[in-house]
Amino acid sequence: MSSCVSILGSTGSIGRQSLEVIAACGMRVAALTANSSVQKLEEQARQFHPELAVMMDEEAAADLRVRLADTDIRVAGGMEGLLEAAVIPSADTVITAVVGMVGLRPTLAAIREGKRIGLANKETLVCAGTLVLEEAKDYGAEIIPVDSEHSALFQCLQGNRDRGEVKRLILTCSGGPFYGKKAAELKGMTREDALRHPNWSMGAKITVDSATLMNKGLEVIEAMHLYHMPPEKISVVVHRESIIHSLVEYCDNAMIAQLGAPDMRLPIQYALTFPKRVPGPATELDLWNCGPLTFGNPDLETFRCLDLALQAARTGGTAGAILNGANEAAVAQFLAGKIGFLDIAEQVARAMEQVPVRFNPGLKDVLEADRAAREAVG
Ligand code: NAD
Ligand code: MG
Repeated sequence: MSSCVSILGSTGSIGRQSLEVIAACGMRVAALTANSSVQKLEEQARQFHPELAVMMDEEAAADLRVRLADTDIRVAGGMEGLLEAAVIPSADTVITAVVGMVGLRPTLAAIREGKRIGLANKETLVCAGTLVLEEAKDYGAEIIPVDSEHSALFQCLQGNRDRGEVKRLILTCSGGPFYGKKAAELKGMTREDALRHPNWSMGAKITVDSATLMNKGLEVIEAMHLYHMPPEKISVVVHRESIIHSLVEYCDNAMIAQLGAPDMRLPIQYALTFPKRVPGPATELDLWNCGPLTFGNPDLETFRCLDLALQAARTGGTAGAILNGANEAAVAQFLAGKIGFLDIAEQVARAMEQVPVRFNPGLKDVLEADRAAREAVG
């Protein structure tokens, strides 16, 4: 069970909910980091008294230093600061809640210090899953998923000693805000339409990924790495209600599912308290009034991003890094109003065609694949 936690990306959706769990469970905070939200980070620092507070943006770091001058909290800036927060000796656990591939270096740094990683930052595993898990094995660092589907799988796999007994992993997918629509209707969808998720309130990037279903594709790749399963043993089922968070099907055809209210504080807490369970702030599921649970097939033709991610999963090597880099760049352009909703898949497909895949990649190859994919998006 964690006692002192460093949160990378503490001002975001996962970061803020992590602090709620930490407060409720009486854990301490070693470091907090954010990109540029100075005021939010100042408030959090005054409430949780970390040793270190980091702003990725150097100007914001200078501002925070002035704001926290009356405290003994040290302030740092940039990637150096983020890395410092990742390896801070007083933390036994690091929650990686930054968005995007920027989380890769700090995650590796924390692993090399043998910290428990509460992993929310899925882009890291999509880009460099093999590297990250090999390092975690070498340094004896536990990686516990925070993503609700992967936490569900982790919970359903407790007690399983022989992975050969697992027939497949089944990831549930809400279908997102555009469920049931066809390409013609999706064409004019705006930023505001895409940011209206039916079941979850999350950061902008992952909310757009949920609308394109890229999020589910990234999660298939994340699951492949976390549970050492080939892509053909991972299925996606559309489950609109987000009550079943994922399932494991065993070789005797038993299916074990994890259910809960759609509330990220439960998987966050389990990543911190594993193997223990303690009472916490997560909402109780009212099974008697939650209505019927439904299941269906994802529409891969309309939601091309999921199909592209499944292709990348089958290809392996740097295909995940190419997919992710292109998607990060395309989603940023969509959020900035520069491209349309359907262009996201178009751009990712183009990058996947243009950028050559390398196999058994090292960190350099991953970074180069990411750079080339972003460049292909333009
Ligand atoms: P968010 O946008 O709400 O928060 C992101 C955090 O990272 C903020 O604190 C921000 O200041 C920081 N940040 C952003 N860009 C940065 C940069 N370039 N350098 C350093 N820090 C930066 O995002 P979120 O919804 O909390 O998601 C965080 C991660 O968790 C993502 O990888 C997402 O896919 C994953 N995740 C989120 C949810 C969810 O419910 N929100 C669920 C599962 C997985
Ligand atoms: Mg998820």
